[in-house]
Amino acid sequence: MAQVNEDYLKLPGSYLFSEIARRVNQFKEENPMADIIRLGIGDVTRPLPTAVVEAMKKAVDEMGQAETFRGYGPEQGYEFLSQTIIDNDFTPRGVKLSPDEVFISDGAKSDTANFQELFGVNNTIAVTDPVYPVYVDTNVMAGRTGFPNELGQFEKLVYLPCTEENGMKPILPQTHVDMIYLCFPNNPSGVTLSKEELKQWVDYARENQSIILFDAAYESFIREENVPHSIFEIEGAREVAVEFRSFSKTAGFTGTRCGYTVVPKEVKVYDAKGEDHSLNSLWLRRQTTKFNGVSYPVQVAAAAVYTEEGQKQVKETIDYYMENARIIREGLEQAGYKVFGGINAPYIWMKTPDNMGSWEFFDKLMKEVNIVGTPGAGFGANGEGYFRLTAFGTRENTVRAIERIKTKM
Ligand code: PLP
Repeated sequence: MAQVNEDYLKLPGSYLFSEIARRVNQFKEENPMADIIRLGIGDVTRPLPTAVVEAMKKAVDEMGQAETFRGYGPEQGYEFLSQTIIDNDFTPRGVKLSPDEVFISDGAKSDTANFQELFGVNNTIAVTDPVYPVYVDTNVMAGRTGFPNELGQFEKLVYLPCTEENGMKPILPQTHVDMIYLCFPNNPSGVTLSKEELKQWVDYARENQSIILFDAAYESFIREENVPHSIFEIEGAREVAVEFRSFSKTAGFTGTRCGYTVVPKEVKVYDAKGEDHSLNSLWLRRQTTKFNGVSYPVQVAAAAVYTEEGQKQVKETIDYYMENARIIREGLEQAGYKVFGGINAPYIWMKTPDNMGSWEFFDKLMKEVNIVGTPGAGFGANGEGYFRLTAFGTRENTVRAIERIKTKM
């Protein structure tokens, strides 16, 4: 008899977006004429930049010719891409990296999900609350969390509440933790940390020999000065941090799939005897065993993001989404709602009116003005009473949605 991995049974039953889909489908069946606008799931609507498409087409042609065909590539990615990433995303910010510290992957979801495998099951983990659910669920699957309580919080995780009082910015753990997941610009709250604020986390990690798993999937949406794009802009971070990046939101790669993870050679983990081991070597070992690399045309396409044309087109797309963000944020403020985010991030985190529950507000918004967003409670206990809207819709739908909220709610 095959035994189940019982850790999987500790996971909450229904994934947030399936529950949303279920409610929307039911509403549509009952109201087939409703003109529903979706500002919920974080998928993008703008197409790939033409520079990216052209580069990918050429690479596909190369794959069709015996002289230029390529089979298996390096599991950790081609150096033409890792070096281009370093030259464009890091060197101009004063961050020195070598290509073997950059691991190309099929996106930040897999990397943020898989990276925990390198750590022992007895590590204590801190996550913000609310949080991108992948960090929590993958640690549940790995047996690091124990069981959830009635609020859905797992007994062995350390939750760092992000609330109105602290401006959605977590405060340092009061007890020792070994691993800390941070995501800035944040999904779902849209807030960022300043360099000084992020430095406190790096200092904590250095003092406690902890590791920060830093998700920078939304760094390209940063508009303001003094907001770090990379944790490696902070002194000392090379010893204690790993950074996850993605082309998904930056360049429309949600369906094309490419991202990368930076693992500096200085980051160490320890065995029971106290001997240190390089996280970079362990991740290389893991990737070369379990992953066979991103396809060549997709890596060529990702490299094209950094060409002059590519950069111009990506900037236009990001400006487009950030104008949506402004429309949502300012529109909600004018309508009297308390909002966070939307300045350096494509997410707007709004407080529900009259302390209404997140799911109750979801139903109200869907039924009264036919707008679908994401209930904050789906991101953690402290997300209750909040609601997330995204700037990834079309301009037309964004404007219409905000008009409806302003005039009909
Ligand atoms: N990290 C965060 C915080 C996200 O919000 C998302 C996607 O929504 C991802 C990672 C996943 O990105 P990718 O498409 O690169 O897998």
